[in-house]
Amino acid sequence: MRRILKACQRRFEILARQFGSRRPAQAVAIWMKQAWQLSQRERLSLAEALVQVDARLQARYRRYLGRRGEHWPPVGNAPLLFCDAGLGGLARWLWAAGQEAIWSRAQDDRQLVEQALQAGAVLLTTDTLLLERRVIRTGRLRALWIPPTLEVIEQLALVFTQLELKLATPRCMRCGGRLEQVPKATVADRIPPRTARWLDEYFLCSVCGNLFWQGTHWQQILNRLRTLGSTGLNDA
Ligand SMILES: [Zn+2]
Repeated sequence: MRRILKACQRRFEILARQFGSRRPAQAVAIWMKQAWQLSQRERLSLAEALVQVDARLQARYRRYLGRRGEHWPPVGNAPLLFCDAGLGGLARWLWAAGQEAIWSRAQDDRQLVEQALQAGAVLLTTDTLLLERRVIRTGRLRALWIPPTLEVIEQLALVFTQLELKLATPRCMRCGGRLEQVPKATVADRIPPRTARWLDEYFLCSVCGNLFWQGTHWQQILNRLRTLGSTGLNDA
């Protein structure tokens, strides 16, 4: 709990500076208090309330940029997403939801930031210290903080809401590569007989060669993605 409290405090400090607040410490205190009141009112844990307040502030920051004629992220553009080492689970769900995402196993912050910059990506990270780097504060590298306390599906919803993404054609859940439909006959030897009896559409990953079909497991994944509809997930 102390970890998330500290992380949120640092997040709020960064946000206060982004808003150009003259008294950042006061702004942070107000937001921390709001989170505490929210947790009391809605009977949430303080961590859950802090995450909600953070999401609201992020949305407010987007409107603030909009009024100044700036946009974050670029409107109408599906950004390349860069997940840090701890977000492998999120990367797989982003791929299932059709997003172009790279999962970096780099543990070193400098390396991670450099890779994301080079790729022209939006960095997704659970590390608030990283957000204090100059390259992120100045907006050269865009980054989104992912609270580590969230379930992976909640992390996905947060990314979709904050970056205004839309569901797209699913990608390979193993590596993120594009899937290409292939004639059933060409992969017949790789299809379990039970599946072959009722399914005719098969897809190969253009990168790792893994074979996919929209079986029951896939339907479960789609259903979970669709349950996020109210948080901004829409079919493309
Ligand atoms: Zn693949």
